[in-house]
Amino acid sequence: MIEEEWDVVIVGAGAGGLTLANYLGKAGIRSLILDPRPGIESLGRGELIQPLGLEILEELSFLEGLYGLPHCRNESFRFLDGKGNLLMRSRYSCLEGRFPFSISLEPHLLDQLMLDRLADFPCVRVVFGARYLIHRQEGERVVVEWEENGKKVSSSAGVLVGDDGRRSLVRSSGDFSGQVVTYKDSYLSWSFDLSPGASEILAEQEGRYFLSAGKIFFLFPVSPTRRFFLYMLKDRDRRSLDGQGLDAFLAELDGWVGGIARTLRDGGLRETSQIPEMAVLKVLLKSWVSGNTVLMGDAAHAMNPHVAQGRNQAMEDARVLAPLLCEAISRGRGNPTGALMEYERIRKPVTEQLHRLADEMTLVWNSGNPLVVKVRERVFRGIGRRPPLERKIVRTISGMGFEPLTVMDRMNAFLSGG
Ligand SMILES: Cc1cc2nc3c(=O)[nH]c(=O)nc-3n(C[C@H](O)[C@H](O)[C@H](O)COP(=O)(O)OP(=O)(O)OC[C@H]3O[C@@H](n4cnc5c(N)ncnc54)[C@H](O)[C@@H]3O)c2cc1C
Repeated sequence: MIEEEWDVVIVGAGAGGLTLANYLGKAGIRSLILDPRPGIESLGRGELIQPLGLEILEELSFLEGLYGLPHCRNESFRFLDGKGNLLMRSRYSCLEGRFPFSISLEPHLLDQLMLDRLADFPCVRVVFGARYLIHRQEGERVVVEWEENGKKVSSSAGVLVGDDGRRSLVRSSGDFSGQVVTYKDSYLSWSFDLSPGASEILAEQEGRYFLSAGKIFFLFPVSPTRRFFLYMLKDRDRRSLDGQGLDAFLAELDGWVGGIARTLRDGGLRETSQIPEMAVLKVLLKSWVSGNTVLMGDAAHAMNPHVAQGRNQAMEDARVLAPLLCEAISRGRGNPTGALMEYERIRKPVTEQLHRLADEMTLVWNSGNPLVVKVRERVFRGIGRRPPLERKIVRTISGMGFEPLTVMDRMNAFLSGG
């Protein structure tokens, strides 16, 4: 029995779902959001909000709230080799526009801000502790089955939006074909407070990528007093890492950032097995639309964190999808497939370009081959010496444009980097 009727049901109160609900709420569209968690929770990690994401947050009037949260403003990042020598600096100041910087923070803080705003929209209902189970198309509507505290509920939706993350159940329950690939290497991720006696080099606010043969260590601030790192786990070989023990692991990190070992120990790190591992997935689908059901965010296009774009692209999905949905819904209860296909037409190619770029970066950045490492380091140095090339990289990573380096650009960078 159908218990509720909605214009839109959104599965997942993540970055994309919350952004979409805010756009739809402002437009008065009756929307239901489901999420199985008890509420917004810390993910224990940091994220970068790129200029693209900042533009969307400004459009939704969240900037003031965002700046009130613990965060850091990043004007540049440093790329270093395994010995800590500077390869290049990427500076947001080479961008035109309102946001020549990115913001780093713990993402649940932003999610909570976006959730709180939904209370202003009586047309939006958010249910935590609510797990999507399955859906089916019935005529021009979708019937969504979900459960809350063991009680099954059926809702009818004009459109079902799957924003339930990279392992999406909406995707696997629906008619969506394509690839879900797990990358060979994974990451360990950890957030920690700076202890009062933290070394100066650790306390520095500029985010740093250390790249050496088969090693990646990315350290950035999530607030003036808190840091986050990603450490590449080659071939997902957790057993070797845990076997080596914490001392060996910390000695390696200390080689990059002196003093980090002591701070991590002071913060309660006792063994490597405490550090969560994050597999990296790529979702590449033939279509994001099936009947009145549409996917967005990681459910549609989970991507490698090398491009630092996942959240920003999920938010951009919402920005593009929302007006198309509003228009289709305001026309009446007719078939919204045209609007959904238009969203896919605009958004899918952008994410596919990012996938290709991320794959290329993975091949070059994750490599342990000494020749690749030598060429990579030279190209990095060359980009740092050639402002137009640096600008292309920063524009792409900021989400404000897609300007990957051409073969000629790479040759030029290689020649300049000697
Ligand atoms: C370590 C790490 C670092 C990252 N760094 C960055 C970065 O710097 N910049 C950036 O832009 N991106 C980054 N990302 C990627 C970014 O976190 C994701 O791309 C983004 O969160 C995707 O948002 P989403 O809304 O699509 O999915 P999610 O945020 O994953 O939200 C999915 C939601 O669906 C809910 N859900 C799951 N199953 C169900 C169900 N059955 N029923 C109802 N709800 C369900 C989940 O509880 C969750 O709330 C990073 C990711 C990781 C792991």
